[in-house]
Amino acid sequence: MASDNTAKKHILIVEDESQISRFLQLELEHENYATTTCADGRAALDLALAKDFDLIILDVMLPSLNGIEVLRRLRQTKQTPVIILTARDQVVDKVTGLDIGADDYMTKPFAIEELLARIRLHTKNRTAGSTLRCGKLSIDSDARVAAYDGHAVDLTKKEFDLLEYLMKNRNIVVGREKLLDAVWGFDFYGSTNVVDVYVRYLRSKIDDVYGVTVIETVRGAGYVIR
Ligand code: CA
Repeated sequence: MASDNTAKKHILIVEDESQISRFLQLELEHENYATTTCADGRAALDLALAKDFDLIILDVMLPSLNGIEVLRRLRQTKQTPVIILTARDQVVDKVTGLDIGADDYMTKPFAIEELLARIRLHTKNRTAGSTLRCGKLSIDSDARVAAYDGHAVDLTKKEFDLLEYLMKNRNIVVGREKLLDAVWGFDFYGSTNVVDVYVRYLRSKIDDVYGVTVIETVRGAGYVIR
């Protein structure tokens, strides 16, 4: 089975709901990942300790050992990237998971494209070319994902484009007209207020969440990331 798997990234799927597990396996193999599935917490921990997976997708509610405990014990010795899957109402698990070293989390039900983007983010062999960094903020132009302090930030296409443009022009104050042209295109019919609206969206997803100021407003001039 492992014949041509050496070059593929290997993902451990820990999920006891067989339909979700099967769905993830099919999607990931379609994306050319090698997969191993496991439906039991204790068995998953043994597997994760015995083998070097490129990433682990970890459900929280599991037989024999829950996902939080699996992660806690795994982190005593290994730093394998882990994306936790939580049910919609398990906010406590989400917070606990990040506290004890999960790299990311997704709430079920999830969009597979978003999960795939996060997997790309956390399994990527980092190349200098596609990743832009500014302090704890990083964006990957190839995978089109943004992260703050290692945690993925969900951005719409326009939000990402705007953030990317500002990061590429780091330390340069960019005017609203310029941003409108660069991100929305010359044929955009509307007011430059849309730029302010999208800057607000970005701030609500980054600044407000992490208590930082990523995008500065320069009065009468525009915006800048330093
Ligand atoms: Ca479960």
